[in-house]
Amino acid sequence: YDDRDGVIWMDGAFVPWREAKVHVLTHALHYASAVFEGERSYGGRIFKSAEHTTRLLNSCDLLDMPHPFSFEEIEAAKAATVEKMNMPDSYVRAIIWRGSGEDMGVASNRNPVHCAIAVWEWGAYYGDAKMKGAKLDISKWKRPSPETIPSAAKAAGLYMICTMSKHAAEAKGCSDALMMDYRGYVAEATGANVFFVKDGEVHTPEPDCFLNGITRQTVIGMLRAKGIRVNERHIEPSEMADFQQCWLTGTAAEVTPVGQIGEYSFEVGELTKEIARDYEKLVRGQLVPA
Ligand code: PMP
Repeated sequence: YDDRDGVIWMDGAFVPWREAKVHVLTHALHYASAVFEGERSYGGRIFKSAEHTTRLLNSCDLLDMPHPFSFEEIEAAKAATVEKMNMPDSYVRAIIWRGSGEDMGVASNRNPVHCAIAVWEWGAYYGDAKMKGAKLDISKWKRPSPETIPSAAKAAGLYMICTMSKHAAEAKGCSDALMMDYRGYVAEATGANVFFVKDGEVHTPEPDCFLNGITRQTVIGMLRAKGIRVNERHIEPSEMADFQQCWLTGTAAEVTPVGQIGEYSFEVGELTKEIARDYEKLVRGQLVPA
């Protein structure tokens, strides 16, 4: 990704894409002191931009990191980067991290805190699974307790488990992995939340130890506006045997149907297709928000 044309917004100015570099003694590289956002722009408008910026700054707070820029500055910088890159339909990555400076130990209060925003085109996250239903492995790695790590933060350190889970899944021919939580309940995929359908009702894990996705919250609102009951609760893995439909939600994944998780299979049913279609309309402003 480093060898491209274009610009990246770094600490208040646009720098050529290939020159947007950091030093090897960057604190974040050694100790995972970074938080980030993944957003999508549709037709030049970033969907739920304010919600993403709020979550980004909240992730800083959860990691005791000072805000290098204000909410308004980050909002303006994101919009300016989408425009400058001339990519109305794009993925937007904002990242805040502790840089290199006086400290090279675990403590980093004397190091500068940086912010960068990069924009690129990113098509369907799960490729043709978007139509046919993705195949997921069940990961051996568990989402940790919120007493172990600030699980509401979108923090780099939390993604180590995701990368290992996704690599293991891909080695088995799957698109992604479903992770259980530290108690053994169903949690989420490596970059997306999960929903199930049974007899016309929707069931989704309660986000008490993983990211309460912005897409997840949007989809719950859409379902409830249709009068569909959504149960946010602890889900045992064995319950997947009785669920009829399944989909994933995330900024990159949007609404992606799931056909299989481990030994359990699901149909790409009507509700899954309807929610995927409605979400597509909503992000493009063609549907009145719930
Ligand atoms: N869980 C994880 C681990 C993620 O990386 C993401 C993507 N940000 C999500 C859930 C979904 O979050 P959102 O809908 O806010 O993109």
